[in-house]
Amino acid sequence: MRLILLGPPGAGKGTQAQRLVQKYGIIQLSTGEMLRAAVAAETPIGLQAKDIMASGALVPDEIVIGIISDRLDQPDMKKGFILDGFPRTVPQAAALDELLKKKHIKLDAVIELRVNESALLNRVETRVAEMRARGEEVRIDDTPEVLSKRLASYRALTEPLIHYYSERRKLATVDGMMTIEQVTREINRILSAVGAVEPKAARSAAPARKAKGAARKSAKPAGKKPAKTAGKAAKAAAKDKKAASKRAGTATRRATAAAKGRSAGKARRAVKKIVPKAAKKVTKKRAKR
Ligand code: AMP
Repeated sequence: MRLILLGPPGAGKGTQAQRLVQKYGIIQLSTGEMLRAAVAAETPIGLQAKDIMASGALVPDEIVIGIISDRLDQPDMKKGFILDGFPRTVPQAAALDELLKKKHIKLDAVIELRVNESALLNRVETRVAEMRARGEEVRIDDTPEVLSKRLASYRALTEPLIHYYSERRKLATVDGMMTIEQVTREINRILSAVGAVEPKAARSAAPARKAKGAARKSAKPAGKKPAKTAGKAAKAAAKDKKAASKRAGTATRRATAAAKGRSAGKARRAVKKIVPKAAKKVTKKRAKR
């Protein structure tokens, strides 16, 4: 399985990545974690990245692309991986496409965790409190001031990736305001629909609640959703519906090919059960806004 998790800081990418790591034994590649390790070890990259990270800005593309390229060459990558926090800009996404092509690696899906911005500050505050309670060192960029900068950079530089991957028919969106368990279930459903995992494996018991950040048992909406015009919401809903039907088409073709012993109709029905459910939830929510 090769997966990208997209979403703003506090969306739950790290928590979900940990759960997928436990369930499927794949590797989590978090550029944020790698950079923090480099800063702690005071490597040349760490020294370059330190102040940039503390300010909430993005480290130059060449640095993170280099880190990821080296990491993808390691033998443990054969098991599969989840990219968490990379790519974060369109040039990074284009560079990743090139890298994957060169290394003959196929990307299965890009899953966007969509959350209300108003909830993010609460989530990050919870994360800080949990880290303090565990006696861990708190990230210096987990402050309200730096968080708002990180969010601004997400909106300006990372959000365009939603369009980038949607155009390439790789994007699936999950409502990140659901509980951790529900989000995990939806991610597994999508992974199974795109053929990244066996449906049976995706349905099997959820991993132990040991995953990082699992204390956030119920991530209920912490505030009002950002206001949107009805026109915008309808447009977004129509776009989602179109993307969902495209995904369903791709997944249907895959499942049809995979279901050797079954009739094409049966395979299509099986996929219909999986794909629209995940997509519909987001569509309905958006239309309400
Ligand atoms: P994260 O742990 O993903 O929130 O990342 C923490 C910080 O590391 C970010 O605010 C950036 O300064 C830097 N960083 C992580 N990943 C990237 C990336 N793909 N591109 C540029 N900067 C990154």
